[in-house]
Amino acid sequence: MTASIAYFSAEFGIDASIPIYSGGLGVLAGDHIKAANDLELPLCGVGILYRKGYFKQVVGEDGIQRHLYPEIDRTGFQVEPVSDHEGRPLLVKVPIANRLVYLKAWRLQVGSIPVYLLDADVEANDEQDRRLTDNLYASDRHCRICQEIILGIGGVRLLRKLGLKPAVWHMNEGHSAFLTLERIREHSAQGLSFDTALEAVKASTVFTTHTPVPAGHDQFDIQMMDHYLRDFYWQLGTDRDTILALGRVGDCFNMTRLAMRTAAIVNGVSALHEEVTKALFHQWMPHIPKQDIPVTSVTNGVHIDTWLAPELKELYSRYLPADWRGRTGEPAAWSAVRNIPSGQLWERHQKLKEILLERLLPGHGASAKETLLIGFARRFATYKRALLIFMDLDRLDKIVNDPERPVRFVFAGKAHPADGPGQQMIRRLVEISQMERFKGRIVFIENYDMGSAKTLVQGVDVWLNTPVKPMEASGTSGQKAALNGVLNCSVLDGWWNEGYNGRNGWAIQGETEGSFDRQAQKDGEALYRLLEEEIVPLYYRRNAHSVPLDWVNRMKESICTLAPRFNTHRMVREYVNRIYAPTHERGNRFSANGFEIAGKVAAYKRFIREQWHHVRVHSMHTHSSQGTRIGLTETLFQVHVYLGPIWEKDVRVEAVGSDGDGGIWKVKLNAVAELGKGLFRYEGTFRDRNDAMLHSTANVRVVPVSTDFNNDFEMELSTWG
Ligand SMILES: *Cc1c(COP(=O)(O)O)cnc(C)c1O
Repeated sequence: MTASIAYFSAEFGIDASIPIYSGGLGVLAGDHIKAANDLELPLCGVGILYRKGYFKQVVGEDGIQRHLYPEIDRTGFQVEPVSDHEGRPLLVKVPIANRLVYLKAWRLQVGSIPVYLLDADVEANDEQDRRLTDNLYASDRHCRICQEIILGIGGVRLLRKLGLKPAVWHMNEGHSAFLTLERIREHSAQGLSFDTALEAVKASTVFTTHTPVPAGHDQFDIQMMDHYLRDFYWQLGTDRDTILALGRVGDCFNMTRLAMRTAAIVNGVSALHEEVTKALFHQWMPHIPKQDIPVTSVTNGVHIDTWLAPELKELYSRYLPADWRGRTGEPAAWSAVRNIPSGQLWERHQKLKEILLERLLPGHGASAKETLLIGFARRFATYKRALLIFMDLDRLDKIVNDPERPVRFVFAGKAHPADGPGQQMIRRLVEISQMERFKGRIVFIENYDMGSAKTLVQGVDVWLNTPVKPMEASGTSGQKAALNGVLNCSVLDGWWNEGYNGRNGWAIQGETEGSFDRQAQKDGEALYRLLEEEIVPLYYRRNAHSVPLDWVNRMKESICTLAPRFNTHRMVREYVNRIYAPTHERGNRFSANGFEIAGKVAAYKRFIREQWHHVRVHSMHTHSSQGTRIGLTETLFQVHVYLGPIWEKDVRVEAVGSDGDGGIWKVKLNAVAELGKGLFRYEGTFRDRNDAMLHSTANVRVVPVSTDFNNDFEMELSTWG
């Protein structure tokens, strides 16, 4: 693949010294960049250089989270100003409300991959505008929309100033979705119609969604859109309402809706998240069954070189094939982990635990190394349920203070400055950690960041994760832990739903239905049971050399089965093969010969949209019979469909029914006769072994199709009968 990919993200977690990330989304973006570098992909990143970064967390004895914003020392890392051809600082202008805001740009070089970062702190701006890019995820909605204009519109303009023409545009989460509007504007300025421009942009854009809950989607009310974009709308070659319709959900303009309307491929970040996203988008397109919503998934991974401890890298290099670092996606390369002598693997693990104890838990006492250490570190968002383990303090007391088999917990994580309930959780946690019976057994470490994350995922014994299923889209910290032989104990959500095999960690299987309280009750119960009956006994079962052999075998199982799948080399290769390459081809095809195909598709969609009201399903007859083979039922469908001026080749007619088990079945019907002008008879046969269709009602659906569509639901149009 020779063309370039522009990867837009509101946050990038490249290194702890550059605090322009808040959590998993940013770290994933950083790992994506690093893997692109390893795989020599022609990719560049586009983001924002937040002058104050995400906050530094200080938590006192009172448990109150304080937010510090130390000015970032920009001399400390390799962020360099971007200059134009003549060596002057490169400036980009973006329209915000009734003015222009100037942006300068910085380049953060990650090997061969540049990450361009925009910065509004420019003298030419008035004082207020200079502060626009101070903070990541400003709680102020006005600041937020300005940042998204800066990222989306400013990002495209920056790439153009650099003379770049990416072939594929990747929106990592919806924050950057204004980039599609800016590219439509560019085409419009070149004389392309809005519809054609939209098709051309869509054909070359991809969107990764990360948010499984509606409340997590970024949206702005319409007045706000009007206020900030009023001078921009008209430059897109269409009217305001058409633009607003691209992202409209109720009274708001929803960035996820905009992104999915303007991308050729939409993906979630785990197989389970794909299903959740389909259900979510189904609410926006209720006439399309959720199984048919065009969303795929690429499960997240982590960058091995960043997250694997050097002590283990060295050990793996001794036992794995010499070229294992180039074969990180191959289970065969990893299976040699089983050949590592258990004593050696355990010794390295104990060394990493010691490093953790020294760095994060000084004064821990001599026995700490021999005490089972369980880590929980993540953003303190309520759905992650950091307090689940504290459901029954007496029961927890018995677990942690068992004289023979004690347990220690280490917690870390920031709550967003505007997240009151999240901060309340930290307070409660600190309060519990100060209770006499939990002192030194439950510890909270302040200012969770990529630095402490590394120490934690490499040095604890167990990595705990207790989200409300299915709210964790993927989660990645457990993948980092797995690489390092740390065993996961997690709700079967996100990536763990794919990773857990019964032998490589533990699954907290409580309850996924009912009220949050009931789920917490059941999940907490399941977690205590796992600790008491499985995890603690296994950890303390030692051989003559005090090595817990069964535990180490589990560590090996975890590394062998999880490392080859949940790493960013596998992930980025999947993006290349399944998303970037087809989109590159599609984008080129749409823009070739003066945007011939884009124009054709636009005209075709316009025609279909204008004529679709004619389409009707008139009558349906079904006739079931025992088929030729025993137990096989055949059902013949006969339908009359009126298409008006639409050609029968431009629609697909099918019978669709539910299989009674959460799935759907479909039978394609073929036009067998034209009964009158625009009126056709369609027929098809459903062969079924299980009589599934006899127990459900079938409906007939007509959808517009085209070989130039990426999927059959691209127009979000269907007629049922
Ligand atoms: C990996 C990482 C995350 C993501 O953790 P989750 O498992 O998604 O909760 C968040 N913050 C930091 C600092 C990380 O390194």
